[in-house]
Amino acid sequence: MNRVFLPVIIWLIFLPCLSSEAKALNTIPVFVSILPQKYFVQKIGGNLVDVSVMVRSGADAHTFEPKPQQMIALSRTKIYFTIGIEFEKIWLQRFHAANPKMLIIRTDSGIKKIPMRAYNNHHHPTKAGRANSTEDPHIWLSPPLVMIQVQNIRDGLISADPDNELIYKANCQQFMEELNVLDDELNRIFDGRKDLQFMVFHPSWGYFAQTYNLRQVPVESEGKFPKPAELQSLIQYAREHRIRIIFVQPQFSASSAEVIAKATGGHVAFVDPLAENWAENLREVARKFKAAMR
Ligand SMILES: [Zn+2]
Repeated sequence: MNRVFLPVIIWLIFLPCLSSEAKALNTIPVFVSILPQKYFVQKIGGNLVDVSVMVRSGADAHTFEPKPQQMIALSRTKIYFTIGIEFEKIWLQRFHAANPKMLIIRTDSGIKKIPMRAYNNHHHPTKAGRANSTEDPHIWLSPPLVMIQVQNIRDGLISADPDNELIYKANCQQFMEELNVLDDELNRIFDGRKDLQFMVFHPSWGYFAQTYNLRQVPVESEGKFPKPAELQSLIQYAREHRIRIIFVQPQFSASSAEVIAKATGGHVAFVDPLAENWAENLREVARKFKAAMR
């Protein structure tokens, strides 16, 4: 009896190994830092890639630390696509040490970064040099800048997997067309409404504002809650400019935004800069900003 079942048992024991082996043979395991990058890499890699994300949904990308299981997963990864966000500066060397053969592709290469905006920049321009001390990392929120990032992703995939070069090139071309359509759509939303402003807690939308000629007024200053005097000055500013909606993102506390909203008779609304459904989210955010600017 046992002898009959033995081959079946052996087969069952090895089955999971075989299927994970097969998956590893078919797809290229890659890592990205944030969810919108997963959207970009999947557009170019299609079903040839298996994308893992370092900063999972809901986490704060600026203060993130990887989990031990993620370090283990990294050791089996072929490519890491960086985007230039803070935690990479601290962790990239350790990621490389965990897997020296892993290809590191800098998707922000060729992009000129702007300084992070702070509310007091409007009123008290900081001394030369200081304003440039913090580079704005939120380059994934502007379609023209995403066009540069996807070309870097395409080139990275081709160097890791030259056999499928034509597929990556065709996918990239297709996605570039989609990005052009989206860019035109967003331009039309803000057409003829130059220099309109929106207030946000965390200044994630600097490149978005730059691309569509809008002005972002941040509540947070250099990663910190505003001091009481700054909060008063923000309330004053919001009243003068009839800003009634203060945008917050789900990863941050809304408390100081609520103080301003209450004092100006406005309200707090959510926009997510890290949504995985990248294109649809940008459309939704654009509509929310426009509605707030009436
Ligand atoms: Zn941010």
